[in-house]
Amino acid sequence: MSKIGIMGGTFDPIHYGHLVTAEAVRSTFDLDNVLFVPTGNPPHKKGYKVTGSVHRYLMTVLATVTNPFFEVSRIEIDSEGYSYTIDTIKGLKKIYGKTADLYFISGADAILEIITWKQVNELLDLCFFVAATRPGYELKELNQKINEIKKIYNKQIFSLEVPAMAISSTDIRKRVREKRPIKYLLPESVEYYIKKNKLYV
Ligand code: ATP
Ligand code: MG
Repeated sequence: MSKIGIMGGTFDPIHYGHLVTAEAVRSTFDLDNVLFVPTGNPPHKKGYKVTGSVHRYLMTVLATVTNPFFEVSRIEIDSEGYSYTIDTIKGLKKIYGKTADLYFISGADAILEIITWKQVNELLDLCFFVAATRPGYELKELNQKINEIKKIYNKQIFSLEVPAMAISSTDIRKRVREKRPIKYLLPESVEYYIKKNKLYV
């Protein structure tokens, strides 16, 4: 049996909050790999113009090269239109087969968006969920919500406290726009990629 972590995100750009979270979950749950899954281009979904998927994919590749356990998937960027988590997980289940347990990793802010009440049963049948703490989202509140879901659906959702990184892609984009430093918030390779391609200016 293999254990694969799935870390979905816009990654616009990827930063140390994503990387620390993925690594913490990998080591705690003894995962064989973590697969980063950049989203396809969402249609106005996020209230700002999301950077093209090729840039976001390449930044994710650059950021993960130094970790032998990290891989990047094109499953969402290669599929047309916006992908829902449920379809991505079904697709990955097909690829990895019955011998793999999937662990979907997300930050505390994203978990409840992903596990909507409508889909919770099906999603939780397909994979385990790990919700990681994120500055601004308390572990206590997160655990309360998770417990509600657990009680109703009798399914397991894990929560994990990870090193607090008060970093967001939104803040990084804003810093670039305002010509403020982004150094040490994300890998140097990604910092140079952003400069070279004049992203977020
Ligand atoms: P944006 O500000 O554009 O929403 P973001 O920093 O939230 O960007 P996303 O690509 O939206 O990054 O997040 C992908 C996943 O990583 C989500 O599950 C999110 O909760 C999680 N995540 C993002 N930043 C952190 C962080 N600093 N600590 C823990 N988890 C994080
Ligand atoms: Mg976000």
